[in-house]
Amino acid sequence: MTAAPPSSPAESTGASAGVSIELLADRLRRAGDVAARHDVDLLLITPGTDLRYLLGIGGESHERLTCLVLPATGHRAPPALVVPKLEAPGLAGVPLDELGIEVVTWADGEDPHLLVSDLAGGPTRLAVADAMPAAHVLGLRDALPEAAQALAGPVLRELRMRKDAAEVAELRAAGAAIDRVHARMGEFLTPGHTEAQVGADIAAAIVAEGHTSAAFVIVGSGPNGASPHHDVSDREIAPGDVVVIDIGGPLPSGYFSDCTRTYAVGAEPAASVREAYAVLRAAQERSVAAVRPGATAESIDAAAREPIADAGLGDRFIHRTGHGIGLDVHEEPYIVAGNAIALEPGMAFSVEPGVYFAGEWGARIEDIVVVTEEGGERLNNRSHDLVVL
Ligand code: ZN
Ligand code: ZN
Ligand code: ZN
Repeated sequence: MTAAPPSSPAESTGASAGVSIELLADRLRRAGDVAARHDVDLLLITPGTDLRYLLGIGGESHERLTCLVLPATGHRAPPALVVPKLEAPGLAGVPLDELGIEVVTWADGEDPHLLVSDLAGGPTRLAVADAMPAAHVLGLRDALPEAAQALAGPVLRELRMRKDAAEVAELRAAGAAIDRVHARMGEFLTPGHTEAQVGADIAAAIVAEGHTSAAFVIVGSGPNGASPHHDVSDREIAPGDVVVIDIGGPLPSGYFSDCTRTYAVGAEPAASVREAYAVLRAAQERSVAAVRPGATAESIDAAAREPIADAGLGDRFIHRTGHGIGLDVHEEPYIVAGNAIALEPGMAFSVEPGVYFAGEWGARIEDIVVVTEEGGERLNNRSHDLVVL
């Protein structure tokens, strides 16, 4: 998936509604606990999905530093949000007072990294947000030369990987919204239209069905379907084409949808296509059925991969089976060989095996699945058949 374009700096401190103060307070407390367990004194989190998760603050990082200074449990530093003076008014909707976070503003011409250093309480090891701009990472290194830097991702993923009930509800709503777009595919996917035209119609429908934007729209017709991360092109859809449609975007809460279906346009596909598709469909089904607490991420990958390999198509399945999803469209846990993490209730990820025949056609089936107490819940529920439109 391609990422959504970053929002402009002017939007960067927009607060996002919906997450209760109690939930935010709990996330901040647990982040401090996990940081301490990771031998980190201080988390430094710039705008991005980690900050959205912890404080409900949206937007992207830019050249002016905004940074949450969050001490690990036991470290002597006050929690603070360093923010450019001109952006402070945008924080009016964020319950920083209630969360015990001091707002520290800085004016153009000051060095905000030194301000972080003043607040930091002499850390020996600090962890910076994975997506922090390098300019800020190096600025903080200069301002805190005694402190070793690590990534905050391993701390934050322990929280973000396990979705709470409200997050699962958002992912479920996102799944239903993108299902409604797939339900309308007959309106969009018509012979004579180019992939780009089809993609524009789908993008409008993604927004019309409740997303804030269409973050990615893959329309892979005919041979283009053999390129898993194809975008759109000026190729005209022709009768008999097999078309991979992989689409998604964020809801207003920030939680993403991501769902792939493969369609046949205007004509029954060839028997060889039907045969390979049947293998893929069975593999996807088997993989989803394997989801339960305690199963490893790599076992879910293997459950999809083995039947495809047994059918002699192993070298046609050229990517991992899936990725976690939440405030980011790709996040932990990754469903891939070598990832032995045990699944737990609340983990949410895609199960999206595919088969790709270079120069000819491709197919992929993708559902988001959330781990429940007993097994897995599919959040996408449109037909998994090779539907002929
Ligand atoms: Zn992808
Ligand atoms: Zn995906
Ligand atoms: Zn996808």
